[in-house]
Amino acid sequence: MTLRPAAKGWCPGAYRPMDSGDGLILRVRPVLARLTADQALGLCAAARTHGSGLIDLTNRANLQLRGVTAGRHQALIDDLWALGLLDADPTLEGRRNILVDPSWQDGDETQRIATALSTRLAALPPLPAKFGFAIDAGPAPVLGKASADIRVERGISGGLILRADGSALGCAISAPDAAEAVLALAQWFADTGGAQAGRMARHLPDQPLPEAFCPDQAPAAPGSLPRPGETQPGPVYGAAFGQIDAGALARLITDSGAQALRVTPARCVVLEGGLAVSSPAFITQPDDPLLRVDACPGAPLCASATVETRALARRLAPLARGSLHISGCAKGCARAGAADVTLTGRNGAFDLVRGGAAWDAASVPGLAPDHLPAVLGAL
Ligand code: SF4
Repeated sequence: MTLRPAAKGWCPGAYRPMDSGDGLILRVRPVLARLTADQALGLCAAARTHGSGLIDLTNRANLQLRGVTAGRHQALIDDLWALGLLDADPTLEGRRNILVDPSWQDGDETQRIATALSTRLAALPPLPAKFGFAIDAGPAPVLGKASADIRVERGISGGLILRADGSALGCAISAPDAAEAVLALAQWFADTGGAQAGRMARHLPDQPLPEAFCPDQAPAAPGSLPRPGETQPGPVYGAAFGQIDAGALARLITDSGAQALRVTPARCVVLEGGLAVSSPAFITQPDDPLLRVDACPGAPLCASATVETRALARRLAPLARGSLHISGCAKGCARAGAADVTLTGRNGAFDLVRGGAAWDAASVPGLAPDHLPAVLGAL
């Protein structure tokens, strides 16, 4: 394994957008990963008015509006503010990296703990921008593969546990104490120099957890995130590579009559209370091969890329037997960990990595894009 190359030093929040090859990217972090239908429709309109009309679903269940020009940034902030999608305080906005089990229900432990933590963001110590929390208190943990540093999840004994990412075990906690326990673990991370490591999983090998967090209980057997198809809260639709056309999303919401939209870290949306309607712009089958493929925007949208990625990903998806990651460069933005096959762009060609990440050593370097279907078909 080799170390992941340095990514840009912050996550693109709404107040602090990131420049990309197609303009500014603004990230919206909906509370509890849920937008009312009116908020979602307003967001779609804002994406078209002030940006390119493309929206990314991120692997932290956020939404990114792309292609915003610097001159439209403030007008977009005003629209998002009017929709109730922003915190007044940009610092708190940047700290609200709280992932939730997307199947939470009103009054359940996930909703109560995430809400309590949201009200205590000001008490968090300074943390690296990518530091995040997973509140995963349903009957079985579903966020184990999603990026987070501190997890509240169901333990094997049936109660809740607090688990530092990178530790196989967590310590038992009660729901009323969970938010304060998260704060205490975040404080320990900050006090012991975690900022230097950047993430909890990189910090733990150098700084074992103290007795106070007594990690002695494994998480319960994992469950699954909602996949495309009909589910109890409403139909689920997938977005290939997490990218959505704002006009298509607005039509989907309106046609389905949904009351709200939930975003999952698997780059799907749940149309809460909606009817299943057909929409060719979305993935509707749980076995669609595109669901196994991650691909970043690549060239020409990202200045770091020397290769096109997403059209290639569509060609290769039916040939992939397991997970496939196509990355425009070794930073690997679209997938934080290993895939069965990773294709990493470099100088206009691709390095093939088996069972690794975009920054790992290649098994086969320098493959021309046109040769990839034959190479993948032969694996
Ligand atoms: S991985 Fe893709 S999106 Fe990320 S910097 Fe590289 S080319 Fe750009």
